[in-house]
Amino acid sequence: MSFAVHEPYSIPASYQVQDSREFEREALLTPIQADAVVIGAGITGNTLSIHLADAGKSVVQLEAKVPGWGGSGRAFGSVVPCHKNNEEAIIHHYGQQRGTAVIDALAQGPALVAELLNRYKIDAAFDSGGWAFGAHTKAFEKILQKRAEYWQSRGADVEYLNATEFSQLIGSEYYRAGLVDRRALSINPLAYAQGLFRAAHQLGAKQYTNTPAVDVKQKPDGNWRVTTPQGSVECENIYFCTNAYTKGIWPGLEKGFVPVRGFGATTAVIDPAQLAEVLPQNHFITDTRQLWSGIRKLPSGQIHLGVGGPAMGANGRADLKTASKRLKQVFPSIEFEWQESWSGWIAISTDQFPRILHLADGAWAAQGYSGRGLAMATLLGRELSLCNGSSEREDLMLPVEKNPRVPFHRFSPLGAAMLIRWYAFQDYMAEKNK
Ligand SMILES: Cc1cc2nc3c(=O)[nH]c(=O)nc-3n(C[C@H](O)[C@H](O)[C@H](O)COP(=O)(O)OP(=O)(O)OC[C@H]3O[C@@H](n4cnc5c(N)ncnc54)[C@H](O)[C@@H]3O)c2cc1C
Repeated sequence: MSFAVHEPYSIPASYQVQDSREFEREALLTPIQADAVVIGAGITGNTLSIHLADAGKSVVQLEAKVPGWGGSGRAFGSVVPCHKNNEEAIIHHYGQQRGTAVIDALAQGPALVAELLNRYKIDAAFDSGGWAFGAHTKAFEKILQKRAEYWQSRGADVEYLNATEFSQLIGSEYYRAGLVDRRALSINPLAYAQGLFRAAHQLGAKQYTNTPAVDVKQKPDGNWRVTTPQGSVECENIYFCTNAYTKGIWPGLEKGFVPVRGFGATTAVIDPAQLAEVLPQNHFITDTRQLWSGIRKLPSGQIHLGVGGPAMGANGRADLKTASKRLKQVFPSIEFEWQESWSGWIAISTDQFPRILHLADGAWAAQGYSGRGLAMATLLGRELSLCNGSSEREDLMLPVEKNPRVPFHRFSPLGAAMLIRWYAFQDYMAEKNK
């Protein structure tokens, strides 16, 4: 089997606030043994390594590049207490009991992340008033109002704001109304992933960076042998935490999702007087449009946007022209120039729900976060640590599935490209009729 993660862009410099030499590790040059091998050092793999090491297991963690190299080090950085699919859809998908457990676990997602930041002294959370979710059309005003009522009835710190209140909150008159969710966190996702990696190391996980797993084979005694370019590891349990960056390491594993490229961009440092007018309480914004809408301030004084770009291949850069238009629409008086843009791969599942996969006895994976993975990867890292051998536990947050295949996977990029165009058209029409 061959290994090749096709990621042409490096991790954003805007996120690289720590000396990366701290995360360099020795080379794996010999055959070794462990209870568990964790492949990938994003949030899933790092959280899993922490839980396994904490439970007394010997853990070897293999990372093809550096910790946070995948989606974890490139994300927009919003940790929100809900899924992309609404609560009704979650219950419909998982049933009442499990659906309610998923909704509750996600509602606790930001608190769980905050708890880990605190426990492992990870300096990754930005000072933020929470999530300001804007309604960009009249129809969405009602939907957000209903959403606020739902969460308020459950005691959550969520409030529906009319146009005037919302504009005071974010420093812009662009939206018709909005919802503020004070449970959400705004983080540096790379610092979070690196901090978890460090914590796993401190708990005893043996970590190897720039060390891809290139082959995985089951031995006659049932154990696994994971081969790297210069060494190998034998283990009882192996965990694939490679999400959208999965390629060729387990037959068909990358066919369980459609890889779509997401983009981020940061401005140069903004004049402080102007910046004070933008998001005065440091909320991060997203809105009810279909495509990228995130805007937030970074502690460095830059503005950070989630932006569009060529989503279906590794070529091409972020669409900064559209991003400039959007930033000017929402904050017309701001003067800025772009400093940096980047991209990262997102694993979209057919129904946008993530999966825990039981690939074979002792072989497990989690994937398909569909662009909402910061809290979910933290949760599924914990859930994977409860999976071992042949046991398919009933008490996990998600049902355990076999390797799912996206139907007609070869053609899925075409389908995804058409869907993205459709979303862009919907956003365009909504903007026109605003
Ligand atoms: C542009 C962008 C914006 C996003 N914004 C948000 C957001 O605001 N909020 C949110 O909740 N989610 C967001 N996401 C999604 C979120 O980042 C991901 O769902 C989450 O980080 C996935 O974590 P992970 O650990 O499972 O995978 P990853 O972080 O992708 O880690 C996988 C790792 O596996 C390694 N790997 C792959 N193959 C091998 C191999 N054979 N051997 C060894 N290592 C290997 C890779 O190098 C990589 O480091 C965003 C994603 C992107 C790309």
